[in-house]
Amino acid sequence: MSNLDDVRRELARANRILAHEDVLDAFGHVSVRHPDDPGRYLLSRSRGPELVQPDDILEFTLDSDVHAVVHHHAPSIMPFVIAGVDLVPVFHLGATMGTKAPFWDGRDEFGDTSLLVIKPEEGRSLARALGSHAMVLMRRHGATVVGDNLHQVVFRSIYSARNAEHQWRAHALGGVGPLTAGEASLAAEHNLQPGPIERAWEYWAGRLDKTEALVAAATASQAAARARPTARTTAHKASGRAKRRKKSRR
Ligand SMILES: [Zn+2]
Repeated sequence: MSNLDDVRRELARANRILAHEDVLDAFGHVSVRHPDDPGRYLLSRSRGPELVQPDDILEFTLDSDVHAVVHHHAPSIMPFVIAGVDLVPVFHLGATMGTKAPFWDGRDEFGDTSLLVIKPEEGRSLARALGSHAMVLMRRHGATVVGDNLHQVVFRSIYSARNAEHQWRAHALGGVGPLTAGEASLAAEHNLQPGPIERAWEYWAGRLDKTEALVAAATASQAAARARPTARTTAHKASGRAKRRKKSRR
């Protein structure tokens, strides 16, 4: 299997992991740079991420220097982008979002739009807002997260979404005590090492495997039940055969 085949398989899996962990739903996407051609990137065709398989992965021309990107509308992030409240790292794994996630509001430059980033100038504006940060919050839309590789961007996307959930719940309890800049930096450095990232990937992949195995078993069992004649149908067919035999004796 070529390196490209491996990356397509991993990217398809990343789609399904992010859907399984409630970061992506019918919409949102994850993309990664082509392993052999830095001028291209890989992205699924337009399809719900939960369904994405290696054959769905297509190649596109790349005009940025990022390696891996997740764009999502995770439910935990949405209150922040709607209210315009800063997301801040509130626990060690959440620190992988960086000390700050800037906001981008397409309305400022482009007025009324569909909220989607479609035109090249909208994409460039979003990239400027992201700057050297790991994540940008898109007002009334969602978030875009970047990483050095596929496993890292999946890790950062899941734990920044968890961070949003924890921050919101802590706020409801009466107070948010975020990490200091020094703590956030040290915690991010520790958790973005290959050890923690691969440990988490193995865990999410294992959870996904269990769900997919259960679905496959249930589907196979339903298909077998449909193919198997029921007792009543069998009895009916038997009585039909008996009547035909009586007729033929007459
Ligand atoms: Zn979106």
